[in-house]
Amino acid sequence: LKKTFADLHIHTSFSDGTFGPQQVIAQADKLGLSSLAITDHECIDGIAPAILAALEHQIEIIPAVELTTEINNIEVHLLGYFIDYKKGWFTKKLKMLCQAREERMQRMVEKLRAAGIDINPEEVLALSGEGSVGRLHIAQILFKKGYVKSVPEAFQKFIGNHSPYYVGRLKLTPVEAIGMIKRIGGLTVLAHPYSLNNDALILDLIREGLEGLEVYYPEHSAAVTAKYLDMTHRYNLLVTGGSDCHGLGKGKMLMGNIKIPYELVDKLKERHNSKVT
Ligand code: AMP
Ligand code: ZN
Ligand code: FE
Ligand code: FE
Repeated sequence: LKKTFADLHIHTSFSDGTFGPQQVIAQADKLGLSSLAITDHECIDGIAPAILAALEHQIEIIPAVELTTEINNIEVHLLGYFIDYKKGWFTKKLKMLCQAREERMQRMVEKLRAAGIDINPEEVLALSGEGSVGRLHIAQILFKKGYVKSVPEAFQKFIGNHSPYYVGRLKLTPVEAIGMIKRIGGLTVLAHPYSLNNDALILDLIREGLEGLEVYYPEHSAAVTAKYLDMTHRYNLLVTGGSDCHGLGKGKMLMGNIKIPYELVDKLKERHNSKVT
C-alpha cells in the first residue's frame, strides 16, 4: 500500500451520495488518495463492497459510519472509525434508525405535498435506493423538478433545520452514539465542528469520550482550522479530515478538496491498536 493521502469522510449511494463504491474508488485513485473512510449516514452496507472494489486499486478502506445525534436542539454528527461494523446488535440498531429515517421522509414529503409541491415518497425511495434515505434525496428531487435552482437552495427554502417543511426524527444523543462506537471498538470523532460553532459543547463531548476532531473540512476557513487544530493539541485529541463528498449529490464533487497526510491515519491506527490489546 502506498501511503500518500487520505480522505476520511466519504458518502456512497448506500446513504445520500450519488457514487457507488466502485465509482468512489475510481475517483479516489485518479486523485492520488490511498486511504478512504466510508462514512455513510446510519449505514454500513457500503463498506464491504468498497473493500472489494479497492483491492485492485491498492487503496485502503477504513470501516466507518456517521451517526446523527442531537442535544439541546443542536445537531451533532459523530464519525466512528475502525468500527467492528458487522456486530449484530449494531446492525440491528442501524436498521431501526434507517426505518425512522424513512418514516420521517414520508412525513416531510406529506408536508410538501400539502403545500402543492409535486413529490411522492416512492420517487424519493427510488432515488435513494439501498441503504439510508435522507433530506439530500428530497433536495435533489426538488432541484430536478425546478422548485429550486440548486440543492443548497432546497435546504434554505424548504427542508433546512429551521425551515417550514423540516421534520425531526428519532435521533441518538451524542453520549449514546459515543457509547455505541466504543462498544464496536471504534474511535469517535466530531464531524465538521464548525457546524456546531459551540466550544462549550465540544468540551462536554470530550468529557463524554470524544477522541478526535475533523479539523480539515471544506467549509473550514484557515482560522477555523487553526482553532480546532489548537484544541486537539490542548486536549490530546486525534486530528482527522475529509471532504464529506456525496458524489454529485451536493451539486459539485468534493473529493480531492481535502487530502490529509497519511501520518494522521497512522496516528488513528496507533490509538486504535493501543485499545485492542
Ligand atoms: P438528514 O441526515 O436526512 O437530516 O440530511 C442531512 C444531510 O443533508 C447532510 O449530511 C448533508 O449531506 C445534507 N445537507 C444538510 N444541509 C445542507 C445544505 N445546506 N446544503 C446541502 N446539503 C445539505
Ligand atoms: Zn449526507
Ligand atoms: Fe455530517
Ligand atoms: Fe457526512
